[in-house]
Amino acid sequence: MNQLIRCKNCDEIFMKTLFDQYPEYEWDPGHSLENFRNIERDDFQDFLIHHHGHRLENLKIIEDSFVSEKPYSEPIKTSFFKATNGKEKFVIKKFRERIDEPLTYQLIPGDYSLKCIAIEIQSEEISRQLKRELKSPLPQAQINAFVNLYRAIAENFEIKDLERVPEESHHPLEIYHKIDDVHLMYLLRNCRNIFKGQEYSAMEEFIHREKDDGVLLLKATYRIQINKMAKAKKRTIPTSLPFEKEKVVKKE
Ligand SMILES: [Zn+2]
Repeated sequence: MNQLIRCKNCDEIFMKTLFDQYPEYEWDPGHSLENFRNIERDDFQDFLIHHHGHRLENLKIIEDSFVSEKPYSEPIKTSFFKATNGKEKFVIKKFRERIDEPLTYQLIPGDYSLKCIAIEIQSEEISRQLKRELKSPLPQAQINAFVNLYRAIAENFEIKDLERVPEESHHPLEIYHKIDDVHLMYLLRNCRNIFKGQEYSAMEEFIHREKDDGVLLLKATYRIQINKMAKAKKRTIPTSLPFEKEKVVKKE
């Protein structure tokens, strides 16, 4: 199991993995298989030497707190996760600059939150799907009118009112949501101004078919917002801590 160790003096961390104990092999192409050069490595030992005499503590990694700014398939990216020592919260930034570089872990005292920065409709997918699905094809002007109507409605969405779709998206910061009932009714009502008779019925069916897991899902884009905590000040000015004083008195 991985172990996360923090030096309290330097605010540096070390992620202890099984791999730290393994030697690294270096291939020398001019020689045969026996000529793998064995490079002894024990990064943890190096960390301990570097922080000799400092106060070390274990941090607990908060489950399911991993988040990244790039798609999962991207090898070079920055990810974040949360950890705690039981009292303070930390954000751990994990990154590498090049594919052949080892991962770097950086400690940030504080927390992170995900902030929704945009809610968009899937315009292109909607027009493509309308052309594909509707038996009697709609004129482009009507397709555009529907897309514009939906986009205008989407401008009023509040992310907290929308239900998240459980399916994983390929990007960790793009999450799909369903339209809520109130806005759905509003959409249908306004469709009556664009579509008549058979066309309206076909559109109504289309909307009901696509709203829960189709092209009418709304794409919310999030940003990782790191809320850095100022380093705790040493308690040198007791006058600014009246409650602390009181506690001390009570103890005695
Ligand atoms: Zn240290």
